[in-house]
Amino acid sequence: MANIDLAGRSVILVTLDSCRYDVAASTHTPNLAKLGPLHQAESPGTYTLPAHAALFNGFLPRPLSGPLTLGGRSIDAIWRSAAARPSKCHAAVPFDGPTLMAHYSRKGYRVVGAGGVTFFDSSDPANGLPTLFPEFHYFGRPSRFQATPQARVADRSEILPLFHTRMLADLCLEAERFFLFVNCSSTHIPYTTPFSPLTERNRGLLRRLYQLHDSQQNASDDDLLTAEDIGVLLDMQRLALEWADTRLSDLFSRLSTRRPLVVVCADHGEEFGEGDRFGHAHPHPTVATVPLWCGVLDRD
Ligand SMILES: [Zn+2]
Repeated sequence: MANIDLAGRSVILVTLDSCRYDVAASTHTPNLAKLGPLHQAESPGTYTLPAHAALFNGFLPRPLSGPLTLGGRSIDAIWRSAAARPSKCHAAVPFDGPTLMAHYSRKGYRVVGAGGVTFFDSSDPANGLPTLFPEFHYFGRPSRFQATPQARVADRSEILPLFHTRMLADLCLEAERFFLFVNCSSTHIPYTTPFSPLTERNRGLLRRLYQLHDSQQNASDDDLLTAEDIGVLLDMQRLALEWADTRLSDLFSRLSTRRPLVVVCADHGEEFGEGDRFGHAHPHPTVATVPLWCGVLDRD
């Protein structure tokens, strides 16, 4: 690929919420693979809020393998904020606004955000992340809804942001250049998607997993999920990622004429008892280690 200018490109930035690195490495994702190799990276945040606060300031999960090759160049970072401490780090897109969204808005881009986990419920005034966007579309359940176990462990389709790729792409294509952010809740518990529907078995396992997430304490023997149970749940996250991969293919094909820069990563991973806890928002390698893909879409 020729050495190309990345600073003037449209952008698609996607977070696969809670997606573990080992799940991504063992899932067939042919459309994400078109962006480039899967990188093992370390997230600066253990849950949605700090991980995205860093991301929106240009701090992506850091690849363990070192510099990235993007657009024919070796780079230390894709974006770098002027507020970051001085370094010789070579970034593809240096910027001096408070966020990526402010930077691209000032350059005349159409800046659109979409989300599916409750930190992105733009109707909740306590949620700061959506307010960083001039335009935000939320598809998940209301953040203050006291969900019953039945409501949480449910099949999902329309409340998944990637169900709405056509609408999101049409919004982007109304402008000459765009910055599109999508937080994908498909890989977040309960992992249900059209590829990973509820069954009698996984419904019961998901209810127990929610209890373990909620307790945030060491699990007692009575609560523990067996290795086989955990295998079933991780397979659900794999299928949820496969579904996301097919939907991202649709999004990418709709937007490829603009030859955007694309970054897809998880905000954080998830622990399944490796350190005797379940879920995220606590430090553990399974929570900090995330998948990252990046590349430039070109017309077929
Ligand atoms: Zn998250």
